[in-house]
Formats: sequence, structure tokens, C-alpha cells
Amino acid sequence: MSKTVNIIGSGISGLTAGCYLQMCGFKTEIFEKHSNPGGLCTSWKRNGYIINLSAHWIIGSGKGSSFYKLWSELIDMESIKFHNHDLKIDIQLNKNKNGSNIFHLYSNLKKFEKYLIDLSPEDERTIRQFTKHIRLLQKFDLPPIDKKQSLFPTLFNNLKKIKYLEILPIVYKWSRQTNVDFAQKFKSPFLREAFSLLYDDEKVKMLVFALPLAYFDNKSAGCPIGGSLIIAKKLEEKYISLGGKINFNADVKKIIVDKNKAIGLIYNNEQISNSNIVLSTADWHFTFFNLLNKEYRNKDTDELSKSKKYEVFFSSMLFSIGIKKDLGYLPHFFRFPLKKEIVSPDGTIYKRLEIEISNFDEVIVPKGKTLISVNLYTKNGDYWINLRRTDFELYNKLKNDFCNLIIDAIGAYIGKIKDDIDMIDVATPATIQRYTNSWKGSTQGWLPSKNFLSSTTCAFNLKEVKNFYYSSHWSTAGGGLPVVIKNSREVTKLICKNNKLKFIF
Ligand SMILES: Cc1cc2nc3c(=O)[nH]c(=O)nc-3n(C[C@H](O)[C@H](O)[C@H](O)COP(=O)(O)OP(=O)(O)OC[C@H]3O[C@@H](n4cnc5c(N)ncnc54)[C@H](O)[C@@H]3O)c2cc1C
Repeated sequence: MSKTVNIIGSGISGLTAGCYLQMCGFKTEIFEKHSNPGGLCTSWKRNGYIINLSAHWIIGSGKGSSFYKLWSELIDMESIKFHNHDLKIDIQLNKNKNGSNIFHLYSNLKKFEKYLIDLSPEDERTIRQFTKHIRLLQKFDLPPIDKKQSLFPTLFNNLKKIKYLEILPIVYKWSRQTNVDFAQKFKSPFLREAFSLLYDDEKVKMLVFALPLAYFDNKSAGCPIGGSLIIAKKLEEKYISLGGKINFNADVKKIIVDKNKAIGLIYNNEQISNSNIVLSTADWHFTFFNLLNKEYRNKDTDELSKSKKYEVFFSSMLFSIGIKKDLGYLPHFFRFPLKKEIVSPDGTIYKRLEIEISNFDEVIVPKGKTLISVNLYTKNGDYWINLRRTDFELYNKLKNDFCNLIIDAIGAYIGKIKDDIDMIDVATPATIQRYTNSWKGSTQGWLPSKNFLSSTTCAFNLKEVKNFYYSSHWSTAGGGLPVVIKNSREVTKLICKNNKLKFIF
């Protein structure tokens, strides 16, 4: 008889693990507190528009990446439409070059290379070396996927393989060097400023910039047309077709452990579901601090909870504004400096705004209209989470006042929009936390550490609790959908191995 697995959470981790486990002969059931699948990978309808929270680019959307093979193990990627942007972002700088202060970051490497050389012929050598290294990264199947892969893979482990030696020096260098360090290589002040401001005022490892660029260039980091929920719905369909069962509105309260063995879970009003194995794909903090008893926390859990090894990834405020006219002539993504800094009620100071114009997606924007989105990252998600709990009225007031500031700032840049607004939606860290339990409203689990090469944060199992497993975007720093699907595959391999079953891929 098949062994039973209770899976907590129907985010992309829960759904993909559910599919793999079903394929490997387990009988699984998912328990999801929300009424929809997808977790953070979601989108919702508002007054004719669709608000897309997550997945503005999915690595593996096209055949140029090994992640495409992973996604294709589970869903027919050809059945999802992806949009590949020609331009990643337009950044307004202080400096001018050739009569313009806008820096175009093109997704097409050839176009980007030509553009950079035209801007600064004296930097040709640096530019060509930069694009050559990105092309080299593209030649390799990053990350490699094979049967012998380590159970707790890190980029470094993967790169040890002989055929990857050629790119090891670049990966090593770019995992230490930031965009701001790299910018100093340019003779052109315009390019120096542009590369320093790639991530606003944040310093980001060059690898974090270069790898996505490699994926964008080979059209394997597209944006799903119709919003992120489409991905979750496809996976839900697949999971059900494999015989899986999803219990929605099933809020798991406890994992039942008997004699150091996980034997089931308690959900909603003391309802019990027994199983041979329990896999949590829910929020990391909620799992270890609410679902499991205190005695199962170890040194690693404590260190992680105190942010000693990794910082929690930023949370986000997502302002979505529907406009009754077509502003599709604007670039789909641009960043500009604010005339006056905006101070969020949570204390974060914003010097620039990033605006997304979603008119390239006719499914999420009604014809003749425009959807403007502003995603503001914050490290102080707890402010909004606590305020909503303690003073709902003030929470709503501050949220609305803040939104008005954002609308004024957009209007000051692109022209007055106030009279044409027909939809406003504001999601705060409290929204993210309320719907998914995400600790501090984190959008992607943990931030990658300074040592970018070792990114595994917590093990897939606990030696203190047999038959309990954990896997989600919190399991590998940086998070994101590719990490999630890879981890679900890895945890399934481990569960198969421990139960003497063959992992079928
Ligand atoms: C604003 C934003 C933008 C993003 N952009 C991108 C992007 O462009 N590309 C990309 O690849 N990734 C992006 N991400 C990240 C990506 O969406 C996440 O990394 C991924 O969806 C996490 O999936 P998960 O299943 O591990 O976790 P989650 O999505 O958090 O899923 C956990 C699930 O468990 C459920 N749950 C929690 N507690 C319980 C409980 N007690 N009982 C029952 N169920 C429970 C939750 O409701 C949820 O459904 C973005 C995320 C955000 C928020």
C-alpha cells in the first residue's frame, strides 16, 4: 500500500512537491489555509483589472534554461504564454549622454552591447569582456540537473563538475564583486552612474545581475501573460490529475509528533489527519515556531530566527492604479528620481520610484486602459503587520495617505492621472502575511548572504523528528520560483530514498 503524505501549503512548493510525490507512488493530500492555490505566486481581480503580485519574470519560461526542463516535468510550458521584454528597465540618471539622461537596460545582449559601446567607445574592452562573460554563463546548463546531484545543492557544489571549471573564475569573481565595484571599471561617468544605480541605492552582487541578463537574453525569463495565478492553476490541475487531493480553507494548527515521529496534523477546529509522512511547505518561521513544539528547535533554527546567518528578504507594498486611458506609449518599466523623497509610515525613505506599465498584457489590463504598478520594498514589514492588528482604522488611513503621495509623485512625472483613476488596490506586508503566513511579509524567504555561493539555509529534514520534512523558498536563500521547484524535486528524492522508493526522473 502507498505511504501517505500530508503536505502543508499549496504554494508552488506544495503543489510541485505534491506532483513529484504522486508520480513516485505516494498518496498525498494538501492542506491549504487559503481558498486558492499559489500562496505568494498569485494574482487577483479588481474592477476589470488583474493585479499580479508575484512572478514578473520566471526563469525557465523558455527552452534556453535548464529550468525549462524542470517546469516541463510538471506542466506543458507551451500552454502558457510568456512575454519577453526587449527592455528590462529605463533608468533616469543625473548625468546626460548624447542629449539624454535615460539609461536603457536592454534584455537583448547584442543590442545592449552595441548601445553601451555607442555611449562610450573608450570602454569597449570592458563592455565586450562583460558581455563575453555573460555569453559564457549562457553556454552552460545552469544549474545542472542530473540524477547524481547533491541533495543539498549549492551553486558551488554544482560548479565543481569538470565541465563547469571554465566559468568558475567568473562565478567566483562576480559572486564577490558588486555592481558598484564593477561600475568603477568604466571611464564614462554616465556608465559609472548607470551601473551604480542598477538596483537603486542597493549594492548587489554582479552574479545576481548577470545571471538574469543571461536568461533574459535567451528568452527564458518571461512574464506570464494573465498573471501569476495561471502558473498555480496549471500545477493544481496537474496535481489533481495525478490523484492528489487539496483541502482548501484548512488552516493547520499543529504537526502531531509521537515518540519523535511525525504522524499527522491538526487543522481548523481540532480536525485530525493522520499520515505516514508530514511535509511542510508553509512559512519557515510558522512551521518551526507554531506548528512544531519548542523542543524540536535546534541551534540552526535559533540562529536563523535571530537573523544571524541570513537576513529576511524584503517585504513589499504594491500599489496598483487603474487609469481610464491608454498610456501604452510609456516604457513598460522605468525608474526616476523623486523631486522630494517619500517617507513611508514604516520609516523607509524612497528617493526614486519604479513604475510598471502592464499594457503589454491584454489579459490583465482592459482595452484602452492602463495598469500602473509601483512595488516598494521595505525591511520593516512588521510595522504594517502590527499596525493592522492593533489599529485597523489607522492602518487604513496611513495606507490611503501613502497611496495618495505615490499617485501625486507619478502624476508629477508622467502628467496628471488623478481624474482618470478607476481602480486603486494597495497590498501591504500585512496583506502578504495575512494570506500566506509569510514571516515579516517576506516576499522571497531569506536574502542571499554575503557568501553568495553557499545558499542552503535549512535542511530538508530534522534528525529530532522522523518522517517530518520541510521545503519551500525559505530552504535556499534568494527564494523565487526556480528555487522552489528545484527544492521540491530534491525533497521528493530524499523522501523516496528514505522510503526505499525510486525517484522516477
Ligand atoms: C511581490 C513579489 C514578487 C515576486 N516576484 C517574483 C518573480 O518575478 N520571479 C520569481 O521567480 N519569484 C518571484 N517572487 C517569489 C515567489 O513568488 C516565491 O518565492 C514563491 O511563490 C514561494 O513559494 P512557496 O510555495 O515556497 O511559499 P508560499 O507561496 O509562501 O506558500 C506557502 C503556502 O502555505 C500556506 N500556509 C501557510 N501556513 C499555513 C497553515 N498553517 N496551514 C495551511 N496552509 C498554510 C500559505 O497560504 C501558502 O499557500 C515574488 C514574490 C512576491 C511576493
